[in-house]
Amino acid sequence: MPAFQCRALFSAVFLLAATAGSQSGPINQPAVWAAKPDIPAFEKMEDARLAAAQRSLDQLVAIQGPRTVENTLAPYDEAIRQLNAAVNLSVLMQEVNPDKDFRDHATAMNTRASGAGTALSLNPDVYKALASLDVSQSDPATRYYVQRTLLEFRLAGVDKDDATRKRLKELNDKLTEDQAIFDRNISDDVRTIDVASASDLDGLPRDYIDSHKPGADGKIHITTNYPDLLPALTYAKSAGLRRNLWVAWTARAYPKNREVLLGMMRSRYEIARLLGYSSWADYNAADKMMVNGANVARFIGQLDAAARPAEQREIAMLLAEKRKTDPKATDVGDYEGFYLSELVRRSQYDFDSQAVRPYFPYNQVKKGVLDTAATLFHLSFRQEPDAPAWAPGVETWDVIEDGQTVGRFYLDMHPRPGKYTHGNMVPVLDGIRGKQLPEAALVCNLPEATAADPGLMEYGDVVTFFHEFGHLMHHILGGRQQWAGISGITMEGDFVEAPSQMLEEWMHSPQVLASFAHHYKTGQPVPADLVARMDRASAFGRAGSVALQNALSAISYDMYKASPQDTDPDAIPIKDFRRYTLAVPLDSDAHFYANFTHLAGYSSAYYTYMWDKVIAEDFFRQFNQENLLAGDTPMRYRRQVLEPGGSVSANDLVKNFLGRAQSMDAFQKWMGEEFATVPRGAKSGDR
Ligand SMILES: [Zn+2]
Repeated sequence: MPAFQCRALFSAVFLLAATAGSQSGPINQPAVWAAKPDIPAFEKMEDARLAAAQRSLDQLVAIQGPRTVENTLAPYDEAIRQLNAAVNLSVLMQEVNPDKDFRDHATAMNTRASGAGTALSLNPDVYKALASLDVSQSDPATRYYVQRTLLEFRLAGVDKDDATRKRLKELNDKLTEDQAIFDRNISDDVRTIDVASASDLDGLPRDYIDSHKPGADGKIHITTNYPDLLPALTYAKSAGLRRNLWVAWTARAYPKNREVLLGMMRSRYEIARLLGYSSWADYNAADKMMVNGANVARFIGQLDAAARPAEQREIAMLLAEKRKTDPKATDVGDYEGFYLSELVRRSQYDFDSQAVRPYFPYNQVKKGVLDTAATLFHLSFRQEPDAPAWAPGVETWDVIEDGQTVGRFYLDMHPRPGKYTHGNMVPVLDGIRGKQLPEAALVCNLPEATAADPGLMEYGDVVTFFHEFGHLMHHILGGRQQWAGISGITMEGDFVEAPSQMLEEWMHSPQVLASFAHHYKTGQPVPADLVARMDRASAFGRAGSVALQNALSAISYDMYKASPQDTDPDAIPIKDFRRYTLAVPLDSDAHFYANFTHLAGYSSAYYTYMWDKVIAEDFFRQFNQENLLAGDTPMRYRRQVLEPGGSVSANDLVKNFLGRAQSMDAFQKWMGEEFATVPRGAKSGDR
């Protein structure tokens, strides 16, 4: 998931949905994303949306006499629907349009549409109109919507004086600009390591070596892009290569982004102070489950305590592995984690991650993920081969329930020059009951199946597919609200990674895997003992990765927990890596913040992933562990967690499903138990 751009009304909606019109069926935009890029058509559509939003707001403000839900909330929500549509289409086109010129125009349009959102969040006339509504007789979802909207308005500063609001608008616009620069500096800074000969690539898979032949200068070039980087960090026997690559990777966008980050820290601190908060971390938590900065710090401490024992066992096993070739080794460097973990998985768990790839050809995995979600959520999916999308190979699918179309999604799953390089779900349209069906796009960079290549996926790739599909189901199934402003994943920003991380767990079900993981040559289902070894091996390293995620959460929090004047960005990463992880950071990690993209978007809220992982594991343990698809839990989960969208608070969603608040128990079990029963010969306390 990418970032929230500013503290406007959309906190979580921001990157979500988009399209015009009030038809009741799925809508697509052939004029905008047909084969030939049509920038004028795109800009015309976006302009029309922004104008329609403004008309609705003008109409709302002009009302004389008593205010009602019909004459005030309805036009307000129509403006939100149009603004979301505009913002989200621009986000999507910026990420995926094959034409560079189109993407540049989409970026400029996104700045405009976001600016319109900020202006609305600071509009006192609209705020006063909504605040004067009597919703005491309305349904609970409408009451909750109005209450939450008023909170967001106040957090934006709508009730401040003119000069303060003007300053807030300037700061937010500056922030939007700095965030874009921060991200662009990172994606523009691809670094390359040269190696002298193919022997330096020892240990890497054959297809990797074959695709990295020496260039005209006789040297082999390895870039810091993931498809180059991750296999090298995981499999290359050469410690020098791994170390050099790590240094290059963690140096991206430094020193350029130092000043950009400081600029964002200053803007955010000033915004927080103007609004009466002591820090950005405090302010940023105010409309989230976390509520305040002290709770973030407390959670980081709890997670540290929970991860520590299992992490100590893991690091001892990594060190023992390292000593097989380096008997004098006394510690494990952070850059060695991928490589040594792979060796431990082979030596201790008899599992080689290359062994499962033949069972994960892309097309079968896709069918498996869709079939699993269909069974789990009692839906079906139908491809619409004639519905156009923005690039060749992008698929359009409709979601069907009881013979009715209830939503639409697009699968844009493979790399393409200029495309967004990570994975995310970008909503295309908010679902509104009786008015507009939800739409969303999955934007991923997974291997592609061609006539010559089955598109074999890594274990982690399959997990990513399940994860993003979890977001997609949340958006679609949560997309039957009365209002756009509470549709889909429009809710507390620190809940949205729970449904996605929960669906990842379906990867561990032997039944689910047996249904689609068939060898691409023989068609044989993946052997049960290989699945068992894969599951055990995948449990190894969890505590270390939790510790790392916790260190990143601490970095994100520490950058924003005080005045920028008292904060040294160059000191924070090493301090937090040392405090929260047992692997030893390299000195060069000090500048890692320059390419930690989430410091722009999530800012102080990177803890979201781990907070939601705790919730996701608690949810997951409610399912029948012998058969995840069995019983009434799947439908209960759908009804109580996904379908409400943002119509109730996230805390209530959790309580409605669990019958209590979330606890750390299931998470702790996930982190340590399975792996703790297995290790042979590992002794803890080696360091
Ligand atoms: Zn996610």
